[in-house]
Amino acid sequence: MFHFSSIENYHDGIREGSVTCLEAVEYYLGNIAAEQKLNAFVEVFRDEAMDKARAMDKARTIGAPFKKLHGVVIAIKDVICYKDHNISAASGILQNFTSLYTASALQFLLDEDAIVIGNCNCDEFAMGSSNENSYYGNVLNAADNSRVPGGSSGGSAVAVQADMCMLSLGSDTGGSVRQPADFCGIIGFKPSYGSISRYGLIAYASSFDQIGIFGKNIADVSLLFNIMKQQDPMDTTMNVNTKPGVAAKGIKNNYRLCYFKQALEHPSLDPEIAASFRSLFSELRRDGHTVEEIEFDLLNYIVPTYYVLTTAEASSNLSRYDGIRFGHRTQSKAAELSDFYTANRSEGFGKEVKRRIMLGTFVLSAGYYDAYFEKAQIVRRMLSDQVKQIFQNFDAILSPTSPVPASKIGKVSQDPTEVYLADIFTVLANLTGMPGISLPFFSHSYSIPYGLQIMTAKEEDVSLLGLSASLLQRWKASQET
Ligand code: GLN
Repeated sequence: MFHFSSIENYHDGIREGSVTCLEAVEYYLGNIAAEQKLNAFVEVFRDEAMDKARAMDKARTIGAPFKKLHGVVIAIKDVICYKDHNISAASGILQNFTSLYTASALQFLLDEDAIVIGNCNCDEFAMGSSNENSYYGNVLNAADNSRVPGGSSGGSAVAVQADMCMLSLGSDTGGSVRQPADFCGIIGFKPSYGSISRYGLIAYASSFDQIGIFGKNIADVSLLFNIMKQQDPMDTTMNVNTKPGVAAKGIKNNYRLCYFKQALEHPSLDPEIAASFRSLFSELRRDGHTVEEIEFDLLNYIVPTYYVLTTAEASSNLSRYDGIRFGHRTQSKAAELSDFYTANRSEGFGKEVKRRIMLGTFVLSAGYYDAYFEKAQIVRRMLSDQVKQIFQNFDAILSPTSPVPASKIGKVSQDPTEVYLADIFTVLANLTGMPGISLPFFSHSYSIPYGLQIMTAKEEDVSLLGLSASLLQRWKASQET
């Protein structure tokens, strides 16, 4: 039976003739069909994926060049445009909408012969942390079907977790790749802001959004990242040149690592998670790394700052879904033009999206702009300055990815503020533009996985991947002994 461990290994198998692209695609289609209850996919491109695999296998027999992602089976989040395929951002407002073009980052992967097997469920417009805000219903965590997979890229995470594709793409505006990776026991990487083109990614909050990668090993995630980070004139915020970093030069065994005192002592942090981090830090010190506790007084300001700024940007980005230019159009008779807009948007959007549009409109409105939006911009700058200072002395910041492990479906708090506060460890990377990754490290007594988050300075993506590879390798070795 087909078994996937890495792209390199898969490609060796193809070269030796022990496996074909079609076998791989059929294997994943089988898993998708068998695990339909997980609800990870919005749509599966069954025939198309099989046709592409057949064509690739045939091309091999006549000696066609072997591209970097030859037959690599990926899935994409339902916010990434793929020409002539449906896209809805898991929203009622975009039902029956077909992409008119392909996102540049995805095009770079297709150019290397990746096969897209389907698009994945997520929270509506990528707003949420449990994948319970989707038009298509919630997604189940494959490690424990009674629990959420995290969000907003929950479907993309489960697609990798449950072996329905090799790697997948998500988007991370405030943790939506790292947190579901944490809940599902896989790797979730959010690159530096501006390192991967956002052209063709449905916008939530444009100065935060970044396409990210789910995978099971660092080499594969790095390969996808290297292909996707090509310059794209369609995204003018692509101003980041990721540095070659230590991964290219060889991995160090004496990293200068730090963690925030306020994070490890935070009242919201699950005590079991806190304890495992303390013992991880001791082990890292024994291994020769420096692990220092540092003060980060602004920790409690980051969630409010994130929600003021992202909802403001969202209220502007989502104004295009008015039923005229885009989106659902009401069947009801509207007396006035404004009633028509109201009906289109009221019927099309879900509750959480409406809440955020209202919040964003509020913080931008005259009289409140200075009190909220402008203040949040100032805090964002302070955060960037502080983080820059930290990286003068340290290579990376370590923290839990989420303060709590995956909760039971339907048991996520009904109080939005409480839900938002659980983003405390992930949003800093998006506020400051630095890269972040969640690595599958731990297992909770609830029998579910949770991870370690690592963040490095902006543009140090390659160092982050190198550090991740070395820590994962070391961790695996210690678990085996
Ligand atoms: N949980 C965060 C939010 O709801 C993250 C969203 C994201 O990264 N897309 O905003």
